[in-house]
This record gives sequence, structure tokens and C-alpha cells, in this order.
Amino acid sequence: MSDIAQNIIDLRKEIPSAVKLVAVSKSKPASDILEAYDAGHRVFGENRVQEMISKYNSLPRDIEWHFIGHLQSNKVRSIVPFVSMIHSVDSYKLLKIIDQEAGKAGRVIDCLLQFYIAIEESKFGFSLKEAVEMLNSDDFSEHRNIRICGVMGMATFTDNSDQIRGEFRYLSECFKRLKAEFYSDDNSFKELSMGMSGDYRIAIEEGSTIVRIGSVIFGSRN
Ligand SMILES: *Cc1c(COP(=O)(O)O)cnc(C)c1O
Repeated sequence: MSDIAQNIIDLRKEIPSAVKLVAVSKSKPASDILEAYDAGHRVFGENRVQEMISKYNSLPRDIEWHFIGHLQSNKVRSIVPFVSMIHSVDSYKLLKIIDQEAGKAGRVIDCLLQFYIAIEESKFGFSLKEAVEMLNSDDFSEHRNIRICGVMGMATFTDNSDQIRGEFRYLSECFKRLKAEFYSDDNSFKELSMGMSGDYRIAIEEGSTIVRIGSVIFGSRN
């Protein structure tokens, strides 16, 4: 068995069955994805539009593609026909464009609101205040072709597990707050996408429902 297949099997044994595993295949060739696919895995994450499209075109159609990177407005149209979930909605402007394009394509797209939880300054995302403002705004409820399924966040890249745990706990609190205030009777709002190769165990302890794992499966990236 290939290392990739073995890594998937090991992770699947370790991660609770209720937690979804997104195998982050960015920068890795389609042949690596096929090794995971042959081990039974169907859910992959990419952070670049062109790369995701070319992999989508060359790989089996029953793969679920998750977009996890910063998404530019002018590239939304090209992924809307096939993307399963967009984890990285980081502005109201982007959300409106996804809604428009999904409408034209006759789809409803599952989206997560990306929250800014790390101390690093380069990360994208909403603050809790910004998200609440958006969800309260008058025209927000007009959207028909997006489904807000929860929140996503990335912890600070650090060895300090208390720091990471604190950030995940905060994201979980943001999730609960939005659930209570805006989505208490909406069963679709249920996902907490947090945890990567270095911190997925902490994320799961803090309530993650989706982990996005790359290097533990496919090896380190150059
Ligand atoms: C690259 C990436 C991951 C996976 O990172 P690993 O450390 O390789 O597991 C997860 N989430 C996002 C948003 C990423 O860009």
C-alpha cells in the first residue's frame, strides 16, 4: 500500500467518524490524489482556482472539491459549477458574488464564513463584530443561492498549544454565538472547520467538525 493510502487510513482511524476529513492536496499532483482516492477517500481541498479546475477536469467526478484559499471575485464563476463547499468566504462582497454566480448556474453553494482568529496579520477573515453586522444587515436575507453552513478559521502558526487552543475555543464561541442569534432553527449551520496537520488534535478537542489536513497525508510541500 502507498504511504498516502496508509496515512489516510491511519487518520481516518484516529479522527472521530463525525468529523469530516478534507485532504488538502494543494501543490500535489493528481496522481497523489488518485492514491488517496483508491484508498476510498473522496473529499479534497485546494487553495488555488486554476489548480483546482485542472484537477477537477482530470480526476473522477465523484470527488467532493472544497475551496479553502483566498478567493478573488473574478474567479468565482469558474468554480461555481462544481465546488462542494467554499470555506474561505472573507467578505460580504465575495458572498454576494458567489450568490449571483450560483444563481446563474442554478446551484446553491455551501459556504463557511472565515474568521480571523490568529495573531498573524496576513490572515483574511471576519471579526465577530463584522460577521454580526453583515448577518443583521437588511439585504442579507435576500440571498437565495448560498447556504451558510458555519465558520472556518486558522490558528496562529506556533508551538504554543495554549495559544492555539485559545484561538480554537474563541472560534467555537463565535460559532455558538452566530448559531444562537441567527441560525438556531437552521440545521445547515453546523460546521466548525478548524484544524490542520499541526493542530488538528487540539481542534477536535475544541469541537471541530471539519479538519483540513495536507502534509500529514501527502508529505511536506516545497
Ligand atoms: C494548506 C492549508 C491547510 C493544510 O495545511 P497542512 O499543514 O499541510 O495540513 C489547511 N487549511 C488551509 C486554509 C490551508 O491553506
